[in-house]
Amino acid sequence: MTRLPEGKVAMVTGAGSGIGRASALAFAKNGAKVVVNDIVAEGAEETVEMIKAAGGEAILVKADVTQAIEVENLINKTVEIYGQLDYAHNNAGIDGEPAPLADCTIENWDRTIGINLRGVFLCMKYEIPQMVKQGNGAIVNTASIAGLIGTANMPAYNAAKHGVVGLTRTAALEYAATGIRINAVCPGATRTALLDSVMVVMPELLETLESSHPVGRIAEPEEIANTVVWLCSDEASFVTGHPMVVDGGYSVQ
Ligand code: NAP
Repeated sequence: MTRLPEGKVAMVTGAGSGIGRASALAFAKNGAKVVVNDIVAEGAEETVEMIKAAGGEAILVKADVTQAIEVENLINKTVEIYGQLDYAHNNAGIDGEPAPLADCTIENWDRTIGINLRGVFLCMKYEIPQMVKQGNGAIVNTASIAGLIGTANMPAYNAAKHGVVGLTRTAALEYAATGIRINAVCPGATRTALLDSVMVVMPELLETLESSHPVGRIAEPEEIANTVVWLCSDEASFVTGHPMVVDGGYSVQ
């Protein structure tokens, strides 16, 4: 198991469910104090309870990642309560409504870009100054294989995730000399609520996804979370600006 140094503080957005929850649990399992963020309290409270039940330390800070003032408050609260911010997993995201480009509504475009891309920008905007002050830090942004290849019927999601990869590379360059590493994780299909919501309208999707991933199955959220913790750990000390693919071979076909 990846081990993090003692006394570290991690913040995870969208941690009330899916990959974010798995990541919050994985950071806690590796000894970090965890700030659990989500837009609604319900799932995030459950994540905090799960961490505490396993003997870890966590608090909930509710925030909508599209709102600058709420993200600023999220980072301020983290530092106020735990004194530092060592690791940030900017993960909150939605899939948006499936439709080809000409049928993608402007509302769907704005909402999907707003949460999936603007949200990541705002998180880094407020995380980086704190990490610069500390002289250390590691950020992982959740992109997707949709950030590296085309995915029909998801124009806003695909553009947002390509944007996350670009933003990750650029921010990594800008802050490489300050002791901050910035990477992205690019999951293939992963068993979470986000995928469940797509399967409601496309019940045949699971079988299609399983057969399209060369390993013959989709990912469990813990498999993505383990990669995130590794990217933050000192074992990845020379890795920055990298969109790490975790997709069971999907994108190499
Ligand atoms: P999930 O289970 O739906 O979790 C996403 C969480 O983000 C939810 O708790 C959601 O809250 C929260 N959230 C939504 N809008 C937010 C906002 N404005 N501010 C703060 N939190 C917000 O989905 P997931 O599959 O774990 O997705 C996590 C990330 O992985 C996303 O960026 C997604 O694009 C990416 N990803 C997922 C897959 C996959 O197959 N599952 C593959 C590649 C990449 P609500 O439930 O209340 O909306």
